[in-house]
Amino acid sequence: MWRTEVSNQTPGTPRSTREWQAADSAHFLHPFTDHQALAAKGARVITRGEGIYVWDSEGHRILDAMSGLWCVNVGYGQPALEDAALRQMRTLPFYNAFFQTTTPPAVMLAERLAGIAPGFKHVFFSSSGSEANDTNIRLVRRYWDLMGQPQRQVIISRRNAYHGSTLAAASLGGMPAMHAQGGLPIPGIVHIEQPHDWAHREGAARGLTRDDFGRLAASWLEDKILELGSETVAAFIAEPVQGAGGVIVPADTYWPEVQRICERHGVLLISDEVICGFGRTGQWWGSQTFGSRPDLMTFAKGITSGYVPLGGVMVGERVAQVLIERGGEFEHGYTYSGHPVACAVALANLDLIEQLGLVQRVREDTGPWLARQLATLQDHPIVGGVQSCGLMAAVQLSREPRTGAAFDPAHAIGMVCRRHCFDHGLVMRAVGDRMIVAPPLVITREQIDEMMGLVRQALDRTWEEAR
Ligand code: PLP
Repeated sequence: MWRTEVSNQTPGTPRSTREWQAADSAHFLHPFTDHQALAAKGARVITRGEGIYVWDSEGHRILDAMSGLWCVNVGYGQPALEDAALRQMRTLPFYNAFFQTTTPPAVMLAERLAGIAPGFKHVFFSSSGSEANDTNIRLVRRYWDLMGQPQRQVIISRRNAYHGSTLAAASLGGMPAMHAQGGLPIPGIVHIEQPHDWAHREGAARGLTRDDFGRLAASWLEDKILELGSETVAAFIAEPVQGAGGVIVPADTYWPEVQRICERHGVLLISDEVICGFGRTGQWWGSQTFGSRPDLMTFAKGITSGYVPLGGVMVGERVAQVLIERGGEFEHGYTYSGHPVACAVALANLDLIEQLGLVQRVREDTGPWLARQLATLQDHPIVGGVQSCGLMAAVQLSREPRTGAAFDPAHAIGMVCRRHCFDHGLVMRAVGDRMIVAPPLVITREQIDEMMGLVRQALDRTWEEAR
């Protein structure tokens, strides 16, 4: 067994994998984790990263097809980001943005974001996507108060959505397992069905085209608005492409129709761009890819490529002007709103995305290349379908691809496949029976081929095990 070196990357004394695992299970409560299961197996200890790869404490190289957690868009080990953090830490590691103060990195980042988000001139910073979505709730309710319509309180979201893990963000999300713990959702948040492709298959059975289905799924929003009374509805929140819900790529007709419905009823539109933002879909924002014009956009993750925590909300002029001109003090904020180190890293990250032309590369080169390679999986005996948008993709596992029949949930086939991925040096995520990839945007065509080779091997092993 390897002993992990003490290096710049690894604080503390050298330890074996077992020692790391024992200390981990003795002290570290992990997010979204069954700790008994973890203790039985021992955590995989990731010790360093370079490009699209990470290494574990046993020295295995792993192709990180999930960009950490949908965030390491420029890949690991980018000196420009490291230097930006160090420079800013030495100059001014922290100052707040309360009490009529500001810092140059926060100002520059706000200005920069306004430059890459058409129609947006203002930003409110947080440290995470969850906090940003909490901010959205505060913002839209404040907006309607100031507009003299305080009864507009309800926010509509979608089932199977993920918008974060604070009480409010988990309520916005539509994950039954999260709602089952802690009495969620909080009042004032309701959910409609997602534009899911499995449902589309049912739609196809009823003779609907994919575009028909997109319009039908959008009409569920209008049905809900009418049921609640539009005078009570503050906003609709959704991801352009549902990410953690399983990379659910909507029909092209879905978003334009959602846009029309929101406009018709005066409902604010919030686009949660935590995963889709910063190039993932081949545009700076997922809403650009799908042609919607949101009033608010949530961001996090890719803004710093995950190197340091940062999130926020792009606030469109409809809301910003009311808040600024009529709002007085907005009683909301975080210690780390506009953290100077995080903002300096974000600026370096945006510079790098531009220098490398990553947004265009995803749109014109690597995104289409991934789609082509995915299509070659269609004939695999365990693949019921594939979907992708830019550099996010899902492979639907199916017991019988011809009919689309699902596996018995007791098989936990996604977890079986995920295990085979790890065994082949690949990180893929399992969302039920959907296997997800969202690799760093710096991935090359050759590396996509390498990734797809590993995906195929993992699928082969999964099929052999499931037969
Ligand atoms: N919104 C979306 C779409 C997400 O995918 C996530 C996290 O995965 C969040 C919000 C929450 O972000 P964070 O984990 O930074 O709080």
